[in-house]
Amino acid sequence: MEKKRSTVGERLHWAYANLGMAEMAVHKSSSKYSTLHFMVRAKFNKGLNDGTMSPRTMMKDQKVRMKLPMECIYCGASENLAIDHVVPRNRGGTDGGDNAVWACRSCNSSKSDQDLFEWWSKKRIGMPPLFVIRVYLKQAIEYFTSAARLEEPWTEATDTPYDLKWIPEEFLAPSELHFTLYHSRRQKEAEQDGGGNGG
Ligand SMILES: [Zn+2]
Repeated sequence: MEKKRSTVGERLHWAYANLGMAEMAVHKSSSKYSTLHFMVRAKFNKGLNDGTMSPRTMMKDQKVRMKLPMECIYCGASENLAIDHVVPRNRGGTDGGDNAVWACRSCNSSKSDQDLFEWWSKKRIGMPPLFVIRVYLKQAIEYFTSAARLEEPWTEATDTPYDLKWIPEEFLAPSELHFTLYHSRRQKEAEQDGGGNGG
């Protein structure tokens, strides 16, 4: 049986391990998770909890950011774009590029200062793009690490700008997830090119 995740660190690390598994499965166009995926998740979770792995070095964002086109990360719109802080500044998010994505005016104003997952649960089906979840979780892990509060029971960390109850305990099947809209377009194009030529 899995150990109950009672501390802030355990909850955040479990989500990050789920994210790592989901990214791997989505990247390979798997429709569901395999035994290998679950093994990878367990390895990530253990490494993060015992400190032998770090969120920063496990999944790097810089190359992803260089490739992303100028479009709303949430809906794909290409007009009326502005910088959105994935974790709002008054919810503990940093002001740096690590926390910034392009968002259209409509998404930006409907999200406002809400928690990413809270907003998504009201407005949309499925889960936010995995890249955005990655940005969110890194911000959260960084916040609680620098505040030295990873060991606290997460249900008691209510005096922080984060509300950890919104973070999903399990991720959807990879067929229902995407890394970014741009990446899923590219993947579909590649699949069509691979299967459709020769005639
Ligand atoms: Zn949008």
